[in-house]
Amino acid sequence: MNPRISMLNYKTLNILFFPVLAVLLVLNYFEVTGLLPYLILIALYLVVLIIGSARIQLNFYFTSLNSGATAKKEIALTFDDGPHPEITLKVLEILKKHEVKAAFFCIGRKIEQYPEITAAAFKDGHIIGNHSYTHSPLFDLFLPAKMTGELNKTSTIILHATGKKPLLFRPPFGVTNPWLKKALKKTELIPVGWSVRSLDTVKTAEKVLEKLKKEMHPGAVILLHDTHEKIIPILDGILPWLKENGYWITGLDELLKIQVYEDN
Ligand SMILES: [Zn+2]
Repeated sequence: MNPRISMLNYKTLNILFFPVLAVLLVLNYFEVTGLLPYLILIALYLVVLIIGSARIQLNFYFTSLNSGATAKKEIALTFDDGPHPEITLKVLEILKKHEVKAAFFCIGRKIEQYPEITAAAFKDGHIIGNHSYTHSPLFDLFLPAKMTGELNKTSTIILHATGKKPLLFRPPFGVTNPWLKKALKKTELIPVGWSVRSLDTVKTAEKVLEKLKKEMHPGAVILLHDTHEKIIPILDGILPWLKENGYWITGLDELLKIQVYEDN
């Protein structure tokens, strides 16, 4: 497991916040302070909560696996939000040509539409992970029971498509919160983040390549998407570059030293 645990996490934030709040209440009782210190304290608390929820690498609510603990030039590629009826097949073709194994964090309702594509990725030796059922923009507002339902449903869909029940889960948008922590505990799924975000859905292929080359590091877990045409030139550019620069692309199981499916 990733040994990195944030200095400031949800627990330590609350340990700091509530005693300070109590002191302010006492001071207020003796009419030493006004309303302003409360407002500043609450604003600070909310800012830290928002940053902690938005950045999975901070391990704010729980520890996610965001990179491999290695000094070797080993990295893993991950593709989110598929399967896509055309793009995923093109990605599989390129990966096959370069003899590269990757991980696909798939959306349950999309696997239901294209189970044969997820099955093909699995058959090619790629890892299939759980990326929720709906990938709803409101996913992070769901209560633990609803989240658990989405996670279990998607794991079952993956089991039907591949014959294996996944152990890896990547939160939609990389957002974490206490409800997701509960859902992960219930489903026993392992949260996986990333260390290099390509921003491939928003930037041009050239900019993405520049960013990837600049941020590449030993143990990197790269976040990509098999949902848009740009991924083709990005892969055509980055795969030879990685090879030329001595990087070895490996599976998440090897990089993170974890089991990725339940035992049958
Ligand atoms: Zn996603």
